[in-house]
Amino acid sequence: MSTRLHRAFGLTLVALACQNPVLAADAELNIYSARHYQTDEALYADFTKQTGIKVNRLDGKEDELLERIKNEGKQSPADILITVDAARLDIADKAGLFQPITSKVLQARIPAQLRAPNWIAFSTRARVIVYNKANVKAASVQTYGDLAHPRLKNQVCVRSGSHPYNLSLGAAMIAHDGEAQTEAWSRGMVQNFARAPKGGDTDQLRAVAAGECGVTISNTYYLARLMRSTKPEDLKVVAALGVVWPNQATWGTHINVSGAGVIKTAPHREAAIKFMEYLSSDKAQNYFADGNNEWPAVASVKINNPALKALGTFKPDTLSVDALANNASKAQKVFDRAGWR
Ligand code: FE
Repeated sequence: MSTRLHRAFGLTLVALACQNPVLAADAELNIYSARHYQTDEALYADFTKQTGIKVNRLDGKEDELLERIKNEGKQSPADILITVDAARLDIADKAGLFQPITSKVLQARIPAQLRAPNWIAFSTRARVIVYNKANVKAASVQTYGDLAHPRLKNQVCVRSGSHPYNLSLGAAMIAHDGEAQTEAWSRGMVQNFARAPKGGDTDQLRAVAAGECGVTISNTYYLARLMRSTKPEDLKVVAALGVVWPNQATWGTHINVSGAGVIKTAPHREAAIKFMEYLSSDKAQNYFADGNNEWPAVASVKINNPALKALGTFKPDTLSVDALANNASKAQKVFDRAGWR
């Protein structure tokens, strides 16, 4: 797609807008997406159906998309970047990729703590404690802090300390308990490792179910995915596991987000804002909830997902996504010092 052509086209439309506002609308929208969930297809198709705006999508890994937008500079065709994790959205923001947008719809629909100045969260996922019911007592793993207790020696499996999911958890902990306590916690947990960190959250869940370790931390949608699986081996994994909402007596269970921002040089700014607003609609919010087992950011949206219903309700951490993002680099230093590779 030719960017110059894009720009020329954009200018033509702006010129025409003076005479005929109807023609001012953008005909297309370019989305760079680091979310790769099958159900997102329906999400984009539905937007096109509703607005007539064609969606061009470029899928890629977060870092690649970020580099690409930077390299494309002012000529970038990107209108929107969609990705997961507050820390990653913050990296894009600090690189100056986003522009602020004002939208009454988004202000009304998305809670304030899920809005950063230049990007918006559209769904949430919780980071929970999952344990082997035969080997570990639920009462001994009620808080993230418990995972550092010596009684769990050789029991903890967890993915890498440099993964954004753990960095965001560390960032929340730093905000609530301070850096020193977070470092002591990570040291204690490293002491309890059953094995060196490897694999993703699902690998840890399988290892806990198999008895290779007793407890782990996982994002809820990985668990929900196994709960909704039709494969007997997945259901066997689920049957062996117990789930704890951590820190219910204190600051609540850590939640992370997936979100999006409008690119500073967006050629189709108007369509981009429309798409951001669309993501907060009941229908789009349901795609997130049912398709990828995430909780809608819009509180009034009714979920119809058996796994989320089975997981039940909990007290989430209400720390703003902004605060989370700002502490992520501190968390990395803390984990490095503690030897959580
Ligand atoms: Fe994930």
